[in-house]
Amino acid sequence: MNNIVKNSVFKFFEEISKIPRNSGDEKSMQNYLVNFAISRNLPFYTDEFNNVIIFKKTANVEPIILQAHTDMVCVKSPKSSVDFKKDPITLIKKGNFLKAKETSLGADDGIGVALILDILDSDIPCNIEAVFTSEEETTMQGAYKIDVKKLKSKQMICLDGFDGNTILTSSASFVDFYVTFNTDRFMIENTNQTKTYLLSISGLEGGHSGFDIDKDRGSSHKLLVQLLTKIDDAKLVKFYGGHNYNVIPSRSECVFTTNLPEKDLKKIIKYFYITNKKTYKNLKIKCSRQLNQTIVSKNSQNFINFVKDFKQGVQFKDENGYIVASQNLSEVNLEKGFMKIGLRSSDKKREEHLVKNLKILCEKYDFVGKVLDSQPAFNTQENSNLLKKLIKTGNNPKQTKMHIAVECGIFQERIKNLDVVIISPTITDAHSVNETLDIQSTIDTSNWLKNFLKN
Ligand SMILES: [Zn+2]
Repeated sequence: MNNIVKNSVFKFFEEISKIPRNSGDEKSMQNYLVNFAISRNLPFYTDEFNNVIIFKKTANVEPIILQAHTDMVCVKSPKSSVDFKKDPITLIKKGNFLKAKETSLGADDGIGVALILDILDSDIPCNIEAVFTSEEETTMQGAYKIDVKKLKSKQMICLDGFDGNTILTSSASFVDFYVTFNTDRFMIENTNQTKTYLLSISGLEGGHSGFDIDKDRGSSHKLLVQLLTKIDDAKLVKFYGGHNYNVIPSRSECVFTTNLPEKDLKKIIKYFYITNKKTYKNLKIKCSRQLNQTIVSKNSQNFINFVKDFKQGVQFKDENGYIVASQNLSEVNLEKGFMKIGLRSSDKKREEHLVKNLKILCEKYDFVGKVLDSQPAFNTQENSNLLKKLIKTGNNPKQTKMHIAVECGIFQERIKNLDVVIISPTITDAHSVNETLDIQSTIDTSNWLKNFLKN
């Protein structure tokens, strides 16, 4: 499988594709990069987190950081017997595109690593600090732990993007906001009319809370609570649904009691279904009788009101229509007494504002809310020379912003006055067995970078 594409960048990409590099398993990549530096007499730095920095100074110019992550998301089709701990990724060329045989390709971010190695290997006069980080796809530990004091540069080009001929100038922070509340229960009066039901809402599209938050896909939690508020005396025994902080909920279930006659309840549900089916095409609502319950949650009404008051989705856009801030109510569980909320913002003030509002909402219902974890955003500096020069040396590149958290945010937080941009070749369906790399776009990115360094 040698020389699948006759280009020096792809020579390195082929080499990297033979090296196991699942997140957390980047030791072999670290060795490969260290050997690369030693064999070319380039100074390097490495640490116990599998990070590597390679320095190359052959010109008396301002230093620049080129950065990529060495790990990849390893996924395979059920047919594949690949063992990611030792087997290579098998590359397949289809026309102008590169794919992998039954696995993810790892162009995210192996091609970023290859682009940088190709430049270090070239004879272009430069002053480069090449930063290769580990575990980007999971903990971002590499970026958090790398010794940034080893870096002199105040400019950084990150090669971990997805859109060719595009300069990414902003990302969003990601905040894990965790809510807890009392799980006490009490016994309700058991009348002849009291009945217990299991009610579920599903069939929403869900999706990623960064990429899909502006697509009005609805929240199953919000819908289920809307329906419950139509049932005046509904008391919750259970309410649960949702997944990770970054997943928009598509299915929620609850168990509740009511004294409403069954036929009236069915009427309310039917009307609610017909009204909302227009917006949510695959909406499913299921309601079934359960064994009668008399113990309900003390926080039943508070929980319903909290979800009702919570503003799901995009909270603020800038004048160009880019999302600045959003929030997603992800996993909730009334019985276990918690809720998870994922916040994103490219603006620190907006982020603080959202956190403050959530804390106020929590206090209103006697819930406790706190930030468990967060990753910072990055923004290219105003009047950035880096940006100007990239535009000048490129082929009319587009500029865009992304509503997800990336590693550069951590670098910008850790290195004072660091200017950052992201450029990359076109990669589609990353993190899946359909991951595809555009070959021409890779060559164009390589030429762009070289052109940038020569100027
Ligand atoms: Zn990546």
